[in-house]
Amino acid sequence: MRGFGFAEHGGLDRLSFVEVPEPVPGPGEVRVRVRAAAFNHLDRFTLEGMPGVPVERPHVLGSDGAGTVEALGEGVSGWSRGEEVLLNPAIWDGTCEACLARQESYCRNFRILGEHTQGSATTLVVVPARNVHRRPERLSWAEAAAVPLVFQTAWRALHTVGGLRAGDQLALVGAGGGVTTAAVQVGKLLGARVVVASRSRSKESAVRALGADDFVPFDADHPLDKVLWPASSKKGFDVILDSVGAPTLPRSVRALARGGRAVVIGATGGPTVEVDVRTLFWRQGSIRGSTMADAAEFTEVLGHLAAGRLHAVIDSTRPLEEAVAAFQRLEAPDLFGKVVLTVP
Ligand SMILES: [Zn+2]
Repeated sequence: MRGFGFAEHGGLDRLSFVEVPEPVPGPGEVRVRVRAAAFNHLDRFTLEGMPGVPVERPHVLGSDGAGTVEALGEGVSGWSRGEEVLLNPAIWDGTCEACLARQESYCRNFRILGEHTQGSATTLVVVPARNVHRRPERLSWAEAAAVPLVFQTAWRALHTVGGLRAGDQLALVGAGGGVTTAAVQVGKLLGARVVVASRSRSKESAVRALGADDFVPFDADHPLDKVLWPASSKKGFDVILDSVGAPTLPRSVRALARGGRAVVIGATGGPTVEVDVRTLFWRQGSIRGSTMADAAEFTEVLGHLAAGRLHAVIDSTRPLEEAVAAFQRLEAPDLFGKVVLTVP
């Protein structure tokens, strides 16, 4: 079976189509024929290789996918061939203490489709049956593939970890990625005032169209904390979502309100951060990490998508054959939303 990914870790020049065995669904698993898949920044980290994360090679990338049920493993019921589904990329074992407490994102064997397993950028993918959800009628194949990772990430980071409440002030640092386009909508749905800070002034109209209340551009002459603080109406932000890391987090923290939470969900700009802890203790702020979501959170945010209260934001859609160009699009300065692959 042909899939898109890499044979050896490295940079973008390592991207290629690879041959992998057709996956066979084991007990409790479902095989899905992929109709659409989508990339995330996570795929870039998987391509480069991360310390302590063993990756099967050749490796197929892609954590997001939607398609039709094609085969059922032993013991799976409730699904029939041809049913239209989307995949939850958060994989948990269902047996550890965290899973039994329904805190699946804390699972001691937590894995992500396409990172720790063979991914969705191919024709067939196998996942646990509990990771398969009916495709909401409102979502096209491309939209169904665009939403699973970023919306569960935004939902848990803001709602659960950030504790965002109606009337809160929320800042999102960085504007173009899929999580931010999801987080603007989740922030508004939860009743917050949403401010987006970005280096790309060209994204202002797009983030405002998604519902952002304010947009603040920053650059070397206009440092992030200097533009964020006044945008918060001088109270500081109750929640700041930062996916950039090294270049922005130290300055994000300076714009926190008293008791504010900086929630870290990524490190696209680098992983090592120096923070002035005096700001943290004086404002009684905190820095918290968030990854993916629990099963109930996924179901909850999927319900909002199915009801049309949240919407997929797609930057571009290309056929699987053009996966290299699609992947390169993730690096484009004008990226806005998800990069989706359609699989014939
Ligand atoms: Zn577990």
